[in-house]
Amino acid sequence: MKCLYCKSIFVTSIGWRDLFGLDHEPLLCEDCRGELVFIEGEICRQCGRAFSLFPEKYRQNDLCSDCVEWNQKGRSISKNRSLLQYNSFLQEFMAQFKYRGDAELIKAFKSGLQTLFNKEFRDSILVPIPLSKERHFERGFNQSVLIAGLLDIPMLDALARPLHEEKQSKKSRLDRLGNRTLFSFKTGSEVHGKSIALVDDIYTTGATVEAAGKILLDHGARKVSSFTVARG
Ligand SMILES: [Zn+2]
Ligand SMILES: [Zn+2]
Repeated sequence: MKCLYCKSIFVTSIGWRDLFGLDHEPLLCEDCRGELVFIEGEICRQCGRAFSLFPEKYRQNDLCSDCVEWNQKGRSISKNRSLLQYNSFLQEFMAQFKYRGDAELIKAFKSGLQTLFNKEFRDSILVPIPLSKERHFERGFNQSVLIAGLLDIPMLDALARPLHEEKQSKKSRLDRLGNRTLFSFKTGSEVHGKSIALVDDIYTTGATVEAAGKILLDHGARKVSSFTVARG
């Protein structure tokens, strides 16, 4: 086999399948797989962060202190779940996927994402986080649509991203306009009464999915959660 990421030739061992219960051959070599940190064990019930990866003092029962604080302000996302911890290897991997147009790479996580989705979001339909038209044109694809496409679940294109945000001015723009303007609702999208899982590549502060979630709840969604490849 040729590793999808580093392109080295490798022989698959049975151990990998035993370990992760995968029913097909891995697409990454052993070295690359060794760099991945799967989120397992105890996690924050809400944001899906692994408790083993941060100090005990930031934990309050089954929540992290960020979530305790955020819950007091009210939030739109009922829970987030991510497959992998966002480390330097995954950062480089996602950069090759997103910015250097290596769209095939994401298939390496297909089976892991399917397993996690079936466990956590069985009753949900998918809404991928959109890109602005400019960004989509520049990149040639929307990474969230490709990720959602791995799951073989109905997908709804319910949101648009009207503004093209420059990286440097993103924060000040959010401050100026408030999160609600980050996305707009596509008229006619059938979200009423539905349980929705937003799909994105990385969950960091949760601000992006919170903004998207608000809009969907405003338009009658019953519940909104989020599902990402990586947890920052
Ligand atoms: Zn490799
Ligand atoms: Zn949390």
